[in-house]
Amino acid sequence: EPVPLHTPDRQPDDPDAALRPKTLAEFIGQEAARENLRVFVEAAKAREEAMDHVLFFGPPGLGKTTLAQIVARELGVGFRASSGPVIAKAGDLAAILTNLDAHDVLFIDEIHRLNPVVEEVLYPAMEDRALDIIIGEGPSARSVRIDLPPFTLVGATTRQGLLTTPLRDRFGIPVRLNFYTVDELTRVVTRGADKLGMAIDGDGAREIAGRARGTPRVAGRLLRRVRDFAQVKNSGTVTRSVADEALTRLEIDRLGLDAQDRRYLRMIADTYKGGPVGVETLAAGLSEPRDTIEEVIEPFLIQLGLIARTARGRCLNEGGWKHLDLAPPALSSR
Ligand code: ADP
Repeated sequence: EPVPLHTPDRQPDDPDAALRPKTLAEFIGQEAARENLRVFVEAAKAREEAMDHVLFFGPPGLGKTTLAQIVARELGVGFRASSGPVIAKAGDLAAILTNLDAHDVLFIDEIHRLNPVVEEVLYPAMEDRALDIIIGEGPSARSVRIDLPPFTLVGATTRQGLLTTPLRDRFGIPVRLNFYTVDELTRVVTRGADKLGMAIDGDGAREIAGRARGTPRVAGRLLRRVRDFAQVKNSGTVTRSVADEALTRLEIDRLGLDAQDRRYLRMIADTYKGGPVGVETLAAGLSEPRDTIEEVIEPFLIQLGLIARTARGRCLNEGGWKHLDLAPPALSSR
């Protein structure tokens, strides 16, 4: 099954690479995070030390990987990247850590998915810059401590709460990333169009931005699809109506929701009369992994106020009914 166009999760052939900002100054939005990082980078450079460990958390596509690369570049150090599920064994992590140069940034995406055995190895590495390894087996086994170069671990995760407490506690700099405003995304789209050598006017950029789910990765993806459409139709400059026509064809509605989002909303509305309904039930009904629902679909629908997560399950809010053009059932019939 092809990857749905509009879901913000990463595709293997990262077409976003060309659009990635390379410096803190070029990075749009996330003002608070950017200002704080600037201070920590400056301080670490002045002391000629490795910067403290950083944890980025927030929905996919908001710029966690980009910021990790920028931090390394601004520090003037090397950048190594891996991800939680890829580091399968303690030895894999040991190999990565012992190959770092002093002050390097090691980026671990999806750090909440590290295997617990690997995570145990990470604790002394983060805290004491040391690796405890067991040599031999049985009664002759002994533990040997290896010193590591000072390094900065940058972890990324969708929600801070997914990390175990001991891991979370070892990050000196937790940084939350939020959905972008339409103004910020308009700047992302304008900048992206410029990089792609594409003609677009202000209203065209704003139309794409307003339908990009608060997410720069989605904005970049929509921009490329609109470009294809404009090219084939020979539209020249992308205006609001060109953008609107292309996005409507892609089934992206006024709020920026795609078919998958609407399927989710409709399931709560039609099958469960507006809820509450448990996330597992929704996952089974939609044939989507629970993670996708909780980390990709729901955060933006909650941000828009269309649904609520309650102790008893998910509920459709008034805005959700309205968006579906449906009337909520009378309270007595629920
Ligand atoms: P995450 O790691 O959070 O999933 P990425 O860092 O991979 O997200 O960002 C996805 C894409 O979105 C990047 O390749 C980049 O093109 C774009 N992007 C993210 N944040 C910004 C930003 N603040 N300004 C401009 N482009 C951005």
